[in-house]
Amino acid sequence: MSFGSPYFTLPDFTYHKPKTLREALELLEKYGDEAKILAGGVGLIAFMKERLVSPSHVIDIKGIPELKKLEYRKGEGLVIGATVTFSELESYQVIREKYRALYQAVKLASDSIIRNRATLVGNICEAIPWVDGPPPLIAYGAEVEIKSLDKVRRVPVAEFIKGPVEIDLEPGEIVTSIHIPDVPSGARSGFVKFNVGSEFALVNLAAYLSLNEEKKDVRLVYGAISPKPVRALEAEKILSSEGDMRTLIISAAVKASEELEVISDVLASEDFRRHLIKILTMNLLTELVEGG
Ligand SMILES: Cc1cc2nc3c(=O)[nH]c(=O)nc-3n(C[C@H](O)[C@H](O)[C@H](O)COP(=O)(O)OP(=O)(O)OC[C@H]3O[C@@H](n4cnc5c(N)ncnc54)[C@H](O)[C@@H]3O)c2cc1C
Repeated sequence: MSFGSPYFTLPDFTYHKPKTLREALELLEKYGDEAKILAGGVGLIAFMKERLVSPSHVIDIKGIPELKKLEYRKGEGLVIGATVTFSELESYQVIREKYRALYQAVKLASDSIIRNRATLVGNICEAIPWVDGPPPLIAYGAEVEIKSLDKVRRVPVAEFIKGPVEIDLEPGEIVTSIHIPDVPSGARSGFVKFNVGSEFALVNLAAYLSLNEEKKDVRLVYGAISPKPVRALEAEKILSSEGDMRTLIISAAVKASEELEVISDVLASEDFRRHLIKILTMNLLTELVEGG
């Protein structure tokens, strides 16, 4: 990841390696917005080399045992601690079986060198529009848990990400974990991205379908097409209605490509992104519905 800066060195900073969450929170409280959390460091170190951020204090949270939690409980769901890496998620059987959209997003992210260090919490805290973590988390209705010395709060990932590199986090606060609700049996989910010719996704999509007779629940979440991930609400309504599923999928894909506000940038035009939205939606939904 390079933004074309001439720097190869890091700016000066003081490195802290707390052993407990309390110690980390005290450091954050003390240094306020002069401090930055370091998890995998994949994003932060690149940003510091580019001088996009120059914190005077870097607080490395990797040595804090309670942030390493990765646990699934039936009926409650999945908890992913702040220092759990993409590779650890990839090899966790429950994610592979029950949370397919997250599994595919994690597996398709970069290469194993990056995945061995990068954390999912770091991925959403970066809030870069093209990253792959947010769409599946939003599709599952996930929340982040945020702690400071005197408060704990939970925020849906969809609201936590406010815009490009902008998140709902105050000085003194740390994201401790992500909480994903359990998925009912019969629900299906998947993830797909188009990044041919680019390190960055031009469009990525997470879909969640629970087509139970009594209660249909459909979520389509698109990344890389706008400043923050967005749901195609009209397309979701089409998929929740009655009718032949193949016809509904085609109508939903067309609707998604029309209803969303889509950016144009150096990587792809708005028209091309709309075309990708239609094709990716059609392919992913067909795979989910017909995949057995
Ligand atoms: C070459 C390359 C290729 C990449 N390819 C992909 C890809 O294909 N798909 C994809 O999704 N991503 C990709 N990325 C992005 C990468 O996945 C993210 O940079 C990574 O997930 C960030 O996680 P981290 O643990 O390294 O975070 P860090 O770099 O440690 O932190 C990132 C930011 O989040 C903040 N932060 C971290 N943890 C917390 C916390 N617990 N509480 C509060 N703030 C916190 C940090 O202060 C910093 O601002 C790529 C990056 C590179 C360099």
